[in-house]
Amino acid sequence: MRSRHVLQLLFMCTFAFLGIPFISEELIARAGGGGGGSHGGGSHGGGGGHSSGGSSNWGHSSNSYSGSSHSGFSPFLTAIILIALLYLAFRVVLFLKKASNATNATRVGNEKKSFEQVDGWKEFIATNPNFNVSEFLLKVHKAFVEVQTSWSEQNTNRMRRFITDGVYQRFNTQFKMMQLLQQTNPVSNINIANIWIDKIEQDGMYDIMQVGIEASMDDKFECALNHELDEEGVEDFVEFWSFIRKRGVSKKDIYDSDTCPNCGAPLPENIGEVCKCSYCNAMVNSGEFDWILSEITQQDDYYSNDLFSEKPGNLATTLHDMVSVYGDFSVQLVEDKASNAYMQIMAAKAMHDPSVMRRFVSDELFQQLAPKLEKNQEIFNRIFLNKVTLIGVQKKDNKNILIFAIICSMQRVLVSNKRMELVDPDIITKEEVIVLTRDAQAGVGKGSIYQHNCPSCGGPVKDTLDIKCSFCGSLLNSTANDWVVSALMNRSEFTKNQQMNH
Ligand SMILES: [Zn+2]
Ligand SMILES: [Zn+2]
Repeated sequence: MRSRHVLQLLFMCTFAFLGIPFISEELIARAGGGGGGSHGGGSHGGGGGHSSGGSSNWGHSSNSYSGSSHSGFSPFLTAIILIALLYLAFRVVLFLKKASNATNATRVGNEKKSFEQVDGWKEFIATNPNFNVSEFLLKVHKAFVEVQTSWSEQNTNRMRRFITDGVYQRFNTQFKMMQLLQQTNPVSNINIANIWIDKIEQDGMYDIMQVGIEASMDDKFECALNHELDEEGVEDFVEFWSFIRKRGVSKKDIYDSDTCPNCGAPLPENIGEVCKCSYCNAMVNSGEFDWILSEITQQDDYYSNDLFSEKPGNLATTLHDMVSVYGDFSVQLVEDKASNAYMQIMAAKAMHDPSVMRRFVSDELFQQLAPKLEKNQEIFNRIFLNKVTLIGVQKKDNKNILIFAIICSMQRVLVSNKRMELVDPDIITKEEVIVLTRDAQAGVGKGSIYQHNCPSCGGPVKDTLDIKCSFCGSLLNSTANDWVVSALMNRSEFTKNQQMNH
């Protein structure tokens, strides 16, 4: 009898071990993103396929070992063996994960003493002496759950106040596509295994918390225009969430409150594109009040160091100059603006409507892009930004020029006769360069063209091909007021241009 127990245990251990490769494989394969329960994984080298495929394997293997325990034991013994086994499997998984992460980064758990080991901790705590780690991690936890729920509901309302405009646009564009393609993707059983601060960075007058989140959830994807694409499974992944806040701001909580952090007035339920209090005009998501989610990066992208998206060595000095001239200059925030611009251009492309981007692109670029956009018939089944990196800062003719590397994953589809067909059998990755230009003397505008507000007078602006503000008559895409998109090209064009200039 005893030896049978041992045999049984060994048998089940083998199952447990068999299950483990599925888990780690899944973690590596997942590159989906753009945040929140993205079902469309697929490693961006191509050929990754849908991540839920790997995770349903995991589901089966876990079923199989709980099934194997029904072979004639008393419930009590079975329970003990199961508990011992689960514990063992848990330890092994933990060990394997630690081992695999050790090559990437020092994994810091939630124990207090280890926070001192986090990169940037000393500098951060010196300027934020009252920082409360557990309070912050609770906010991250809340943000994570709210973002997943928003994803399921395809509605940004519940998360709008704590996400940047760029993150808003990433979700908004994906939601628009899903609505066009009649897709739903609810997630459930959200389980957060671990949240940890990976590193803290200083960015001009802002601090950035890079937070690791390890989680799993059930994922059900349905496409009414082509049910062959329906999928269901368990996702298990690690993501890095970036939170930005102005250094040394007084303690406010926008996570547990629906009121304006500045004046206390109730915030509208449906905030939309502009996250502003209608009573005191405070920008709730500016980082002036609390931590704001500014980016979601998949594990693979977080650790990848491709030359294309690497910050050049001389950038630090140039950035220092930018911060000394424009107090509010922050790399994270201009990267956010570039993401915002890029996603709106992609939305314009999918809707073949150039008026969606007219107000914030230069005349020259508009002439180049508009005909392509009008011809385009493709919609994006998936579209998410893997990485947006400021790779160059230049000054020319009294204008500041910012150059960004964009890595974007997408899957193009065509819709005809109410049926959707794939153009790309798998998720493809595009590497592009977007350039933003603004006058060196530009001051703080009254509004932002990216949010449909005139920078000169603050008046509302619609999607229109008319680039004159209907209130004050000023040119909306003038570099005197805001960063304007002056170029968009793919990586090879960019490299060619660079070689010609040298
Ligand atoms: Zn207010
Ligand atoms: Zn105006």
